[in-house]
Amino acid sequence: MLGRTLREVSAALKQGQITPTELCQKCLSLIRKTKFLNAYITVSEEVALKQAEESEKRYKEGQSLGDLDGIPISIKDNFSTSGIETTCASNMLKGYVPPYNATVVQKLLDQGAVLMGKTNLDEFAMGSGSTDGIFGPVKNPWSFSRQYGEKRQQTPCGENKDSNWLITGGSSGGSAAAVAAFTCFAALGSDTGGSTRNPAAHCGLVGFKPSYGLVSRHGLIPLVNSMDVPGILTRCVDDTAIVLDVLAGHDPKDSTTVQDPVKPLMPSSLTDVSKLCIGIPKEYLVPELSSEVQSVWSKAADLFESEGAKVIEVSLPHTCYSIVCYHVLCTAEVASNMARFDGLEYGHRCNTNMSTEAMYATTRREGFNDVVRGRILSGNFFLLKENYENYFIKAQKVRRLIANDFVNVFNSGVDVLLTPTTLSEAVPYLEFIKEDNRTRSAQDDIFTQAVNMAGLPAVNIPVALSHQGLPVGLQFIGPAFCDKQVLTVAKWFEKQVQFPVIQLELMEDHSSVLNNEKLPSVSL
Ligand code: GLN
Repeated sequence: MLGRTLREVSAALKQGQITPTELCQKCLSLIRKTKFLNAYITVSEEVALKQAEESEKRYKEGQSLGDLDGIPISIKDNFSTSGIETTCASNMLKGYVPPYNATVVQKLLDQGAVLMGKTNLDEFAMGSGSTDGIFGPVKNPWSFSRQYGEKRQQTPCGENKDSNWLITGGSSGGSAAAVAAFTCFAALGSDTGGSTRNPAAHCGLVGFKPSYGLVSRHGLIPLVNSMDVPGILTRCVDDTAIVLDVLAGHDPKDSTTVQDPVKPLMPSSLTDVSKLCIGIPKEYLVPELSSEVQSVWSKAADLFESEGAKVIEVSLPHTCYSIVCYHVLCTAEVASNMARFDGLEYGHRCNTNMSTEAMYATTRREGFNDVVRGRILSGNFFLLKENYENYFIKAQKVRRLIANDFVNVFNSGVDVLLTPTTLSEAVPYLEFIKEDNRTRSAQDDIFTQAVNMAGLPAVNIPVALSHQGLPVGLQFIGPAFCDKQVLTVAKWFEKQVQFPVIQLELMEDHSSVLNNEKLPSVSL
């Protein structure tokens, strides 16, 4: 049952093949068995069982609320959840229990979804590995897959067996691991520079970043307000659309949400792609791109072409400025956002008697890790009166040029862009941490950050397994508020590529973590 898609399990609930409580218990048991992945910071077992019970009652009375009723979901731990600790994987917020739900959380609960828990991340969602939070790194479930296990013996990636486990990517790595390991059917991540698409690519999932303004940010603890969006992680495109359709819409509590988005957002079933024009941005062919991802990308373009679509090379000339531009804007907003964590209002406060200034400083030194403090420092430097024009204003202008590159391409008749999502497949943890977070993010987000600066919809689709048996994903990017169009193309493509289901094995006994329940051998 856990190997099914959201849509399939929803049908099973409706037909009474399983009850919401049984489903919830199966997920809880799998969460326990896969604890070593470190996907969850908090497992909300009591809440989940209560919600499942209420859902069960509704089903019995023929009052079910729709596709999400009784469906186990998980939420990244930077979304506020009423009565459930929300930490952002930071000492600063450890022990903080919000008094309200983020709008997106409330919308899912209003549809009867069952909240399994809060998932692990990089501290305050800063990073692209899910390696930098106070609760430790998240392990990629594919590290323990039969597919990787078999290939790995031929190509060992380290002397020490333990060094073979792979990062999930990030910063929504906990949400990605939770979905990839079948502990829930959908999870929310956040995406400021790629944090939903990047772990989706590394964990073989669909990872969707909606247009900025389509989905409310109220209750998502901000990283970069002008770029943040809630993201969706699922095992197939239709499941993402089911969740998106519930989340999209105006929120009086978020003035950046649009009034009347086009709904429903369920993708159409394309049978003919001959009217489509797919753009391949030439600047995305960077030297750091692994030959394997490049080959998957080029085969995907060939596939569209062979099915009759028009595939053309396009130019996004300001791509090369995107990482540095993101850095200035991100750190500037971080510096301002993090000012609220002063030891007075939220979370941590140091416990020595000292002056107010010293209390601020000590609290923030104890509360934030090096990455967060480093960004606050850079951001405040860029915002200094004497630097403001030279850095912040200049970066805003470059951001506009980057956004205009996309507008020009879409105005020239391109429907969607097809690009890599990440430079390579997931790498072993020990390799990943050889470089600092700043360098890593600067390299890894090359294909994703520009999309956030332009506010566009984009999705990662798992496409193929690398020679090491690990997922490789590709990204579709569409014009602003053409989220449905992006999902429609992605759905057609998903059907063609038939990405294999992960064959998950427990480390200790190599038996199926699903209690030998047979996973569907069909593709997603
Ligand atoms: N890796 C990027 C950063 O560290 C993006 C983070 C995100 O999308 N939350 O800023």
